[in-house]
Amino acid sequence: MTDPDTTRVRIGISSCLLGEKVRFDGGHKKDEFLTSHFGRYVEWVPVCPEFEIGLGVPRESLRLVSDGKVTHLFAPRSGLDHTDRMNQWTRDQAERLAAQGLCGYVLKRSSPSCGLERVKVYKGTGLLNRDGRGLFAAGLVDRFPNLPMEEEGRLNDPRLRENFVSQVFSYKRWMDLQEGGLSRAKIMQFHARHKFLLMAHQQNGMRSLGNLIGKAGRGTSAKRLGADYFDAFCEVMRHTPTRRNHTNVLQHLAGYFSEQLASDDRAELADVIDRYRRDRLPLIVPVTLIRHYVRKLKVEYLEDQVYLDPHPDELNLLNQL
Ligand code: SF4
Repeated sequence: MTDPDTTRVRIGISSCLLGEKVRFDGGHKKDEFLTSHFGRYVEWVPVCPEFEIGLGVPRESLRLVSDGKVTHLFAPRSGLDHTDRMNQWTRDQAERLAAQGLCGYVLKRSSPSCGLERVKVYKGTGLLNRDGRGLFAAGLVDRFPNLPMEEEGRLNDPRLRENFVSQVFSYKRWMDLQEGGLSRAKIMQFHARHKFLLMAHQQNGMRSLGNLIGKAGRGTSAKRLGADYFDAFCEVMRHTPTRRNHTNVLQHLAGYFSEQLASDDRAELADVIDRYRRDRLPLIVPVTLIRHYVRKLKVEYLEDQVYLDPHPDELNLLNQL
């Protein structure tokens, strides 16, 4: 079993999702997956923007209101506009969070402060659209464009959930890599370890990242190369892997050692991959079988591949894909 203490990641979160009674009506929106299952591997950094700008609990409910140019954080009953206050506080809070080494952020959906997407926007008293973003969430995206962010509602989808957690642990590995300074060799090693994970997310993106490293001249500093590489890496990781991409990766991995297998073992492995492709088996089955052969046959090139061990097994995320 993976030790949670050694794999803990620090993640920001809308406080109400942890069960804190900070909502406008004095309630909370405790999320079971986040607080129990995933929570064992996370050090949460809870933030409630509306409470922290001093609106109190309970408070008047807020909404996003567009004046045609600017989207305001507005309290319809009192007529108070909290936009400037929230934006200023968000800028200050983002700087405080920057010092905390976050590896991700989970936001409460639909909130005019925390919602990441599809938040209702009003014009006057009528609904204008559902394309808004909460003011605090918008400030976070601006300040941390590469930070993995997701809403709790979307995390109920197994594919999106696995994608988010995979991004978070990749982000953590990159942060760890930077300790003691970056070098071209460290970046190349990071890329090599993530090759098949990137291929599952977006094959072309994986190739472009390899080219980016290969084409960077010797005069390019490791800091510049690292910044460009990680921007592009996060872009690739935002693509949710498909069953087809996973199947392609599994076949590539099997290609590294299948010649060494007895014919019945080779046929069994091909069958397991094909049953995964046809949605008859979860991803964990071919991954476990490949891990077994990588260990048994000492396939050195694959031993370190993050794809085979992207996050703690106990989260059971590959069992649901
Ligand atoms: S959604 Fe955001 S602002 Fe609203 S209660 Fe939760 S943490 Fe506070």
